[in-house]
Amino acid sequence: MSDTIFGKIIRREIPADIIYEDDLSLAFKDISPQAPTHILVIPKQSLPRLSAATSQDHALLGHLLMIAKRVAEQVGLSNGYRVVINNGEDGGQTVDHLHLHILGGRAMQWPPG
Ligand code: 5GP
Repeated sequence: MSDTIFGKIIRREIPADIIYEDDLSLAFKDISPQAPTHILVIPKQSLPRLSAATSQDHALLGHLLMIAKRVAEQVGLSNGYRVVINNGEDGGQTVDHLHLHILGGRAMQWPPG
């Protein structure tokens, strides 16, 4: 498991507002929300970023997307939402533990900054 802030959340070493959990993943509210609803979905296993994924991670990546869909439904984002993965420095990734952002509760702009 990663030694990032998200690893600490998985191990319950620091608190988080957890929305969903299963054997493979955890979803919790982002500490600095960029939309009325901003939730992060992360794998429990250590995978620093999307570009580090291998064919071994095929099922896990599919699982995380399905959990994003499920969590979005659970919190009532019936009018739509955005799912974002920031990858690496140019992608704006700040925590080296793969995470999917679920953003909703307002109309999103395109293109993103
Ligand atoms: P990134 O920029 O890497 O795509 O996204 C990292 C996200 O993690 C940011 O949206 C940031 O607000 C969130 N974050 C950073 N530290 C914490 C924390 O300790 N708790 C929670 N819940 N979110 C965090």
